[in-house]
Amino acid sequence: MTILTIRTVGDPVLRTECEDITVFDEQLRTLVADMLETMYEVNGVGLAGPQVGISKRIFTYGNIAGCEGHVINPVLTVGEEDQEGGEGCLSVPGLSSETPRKNWAKVIGVDMYNQPVEIEGEGLFARMLQHETDHLYGKMFIDRVVGEDKKRIMRAIRAAQYNDVSAAVIGERAPQVSSSFGAGVTSKPAGSAFGFLGGAK
Ligand code: ZN
Repeated sequence: MTILTIRTVGDPVLRTECEDITVFDEQLRTLVADMLETMYEVNGVGLAGPQVGISKRIFTYGNIAGCEGHVINPVLTVGEEDQEGGEGCLSVPGLSSETPRKNWAKVIGVDMYNQPVEIEGEGLFARMLQHETDHLYGKMFIDRVVGEDKKRIMRAIRAAQYNDVSAAVIGERAPQVSSSFGAGVTSKPAGSAFGFLGGAK
């Protein structure tokens, strides 16, 4: 298995709407295994295709509510009730914010064998489902942030030198990362969740 390179905000692939997966072959199964391994490597609880440069409708999840899995071609349904909570993203290293989400969500799709999958949950699990499905439409949590939080996070993103941050991270992790992936961008933020600092403001 391979640790994949994580794309960061500013990379067009994160803003591109993904295509359905139509071929369920060995290559897809390898992708699922690599995405899971990459997600755990960076302490994420979810990872979507575009985050590893794959513009396809797929995400993995794990370390959340005792669950692990993947969904291909997901269709999201959400409840009406809102939830409060913080959120971050492996593709926006080091930043997190209060992000409005619905409290309940369900995703219907298929697995890597093209068999039906249905998962649902509340709270953090529902937040993950909404966050990861957003990625497949070229959306990121920073688009959902409102008010003062929005101003703060947009300022922080403008100010952030992601290339420099990445270079520093790659420097630290040179044996595993840069030798395998050249000038790739990988982040390893502290904490967890969508790569991040669960609930932190
Ligand atoms: Zn994300």
